Amino acid sequence: MDVLHRFSFIDLPIRGQWVRLEKSLANATAFRVYPKPIHEMLGQMLAAVAMVADNIKFSGAVTLQSRGDGDLLRSLAECQSQSFLRGIMHLQDPDNEAIDEQPLAQWLGNGQLALSLIPDKASGMQPYQGFVSLEYDTLAQCLEHYFVTSEQLETCLHFASSASTSSPSVTGLLLQRLPNSPQATEIEIDAATQAWHTLTTLAATATDEELSLLDPQTLLYRLFNEHPCRLHEPRDLSYRCSCSREKTDTTLMMLGGDDLAALIAEQSEITVDCEFCGNRYSYDKTGVSKVLADLAEQTAAAASEATDTPDQPKTLH
Ligand SMILES: [Zn+2]
Repeated sequence: MDVLHRFSFIDLPIRGQWVRLEKSLANATAFRVYPKPIHEMLGQMLAAVAMVADNIKFSGAVTLQSRGDGDLLRSLAECQSQSFLRGIMHLQDPDNEAIDEQPLAQWLGNGQLALSLIPDKASGMQPYQGFVSLEYDTLAQCLEHYFVTSEQLETCLHFASSASTSSPSVTGLLLQRLPNSPQATEIEIDAATQAWHTLTTLAATATDEELSLLDPQTLLYRLFNEHPCRLHEPRDLSYRCSCSREKTDTTLMMLGGDDLAALIAEQSEITVDCEFCGNRYSYDKTGVSKVLADLAEQTAAAASEATDTPDQPKTLH
C-alpha cells in the first residue's frame, strides 16, 4: 500500500511530509510505457499532488498539469479526495526512447505548469489555479519557489526515484516552515530560523538511495536524530480512475445528436477509451440510441426550463 506520513518537529514551527508511491505508479504506467525520465517525472507529479491534497481542507481534487510545445506536450497528475491518484503524460513523439533528463522548462518548451484545487460542487467553493514558475531545473525546485511566493511558506522538497527496474517507486520528502506564533519571542523566532537552516541542510544530505529505500522512521532518525519529531498516522494512497459510463455518455453527447447519429450509421460500434486507465466503453446501435434519447430529453428539459421562467414583473419604486 502506498502511504503518506506527516511529521512535525517538537516545539518548532516546522512540519513535514513523507510519501512513497510504488503500486500507484505501477498502475499509472501499466498500459503506457514512458521513457525513464518521463516515468520519473510522472511519479514526482503524483507524489506532489498527494502532498498538496493532504493539506487541503475541502473535499475535491488537486491537479498538477502542464501544457507546452516541447517533448512533453501535456501532463496531468491528480489526487482525488486526498487518496486516489491518477496521471498521464502525453509526449510529442511517444516512440522517442531517447528523451533525456533535462530542465523542466526545456521539456515543456513554450509552456505552463499549473497547480489547481478543484473542490467538489457540493462544497460551494470556488476552484483555484496557480501557475508554477519554470525558472528552476527540477520540479522540486519549481514547487519550492511556488510555495514561498504564492503561500509565503518556506519549503524544502526532495524527490528520489528508485532505480529498481522490477518495482520503480518515487519518494518525496517535504519540510515546511510555518508562520511563527504571534506570541513568539525574538529568541524563539531566532531559534526557529536557526532550526530551519539546520533541518533543511540535513535534509539535503539524504542520498537518493537513502530517500528511496529507507522507511520513514529510519530516514527521519538518520537525518534529524538531534531534533525530536513525531511521525503521524499514515494516509493510504491508491490509484483509481474516476472515469465512468455516465461520463462517457456525456462526452458522446458533446458531439451533438446529428454527428453521433451519423457516426453510428457509418460504424456499427463506437468505442471510447479512457486515456488514463485504458478502460474501453463500447456503444452499439442500441447504446447510441439510448444516449441520443437522453440527449433529446435533456435538450427538451433545458428548453422548457427556459420558456417556463416567467418574466419578472418590473417593480417600480
Ligand atoms: Zn479511466
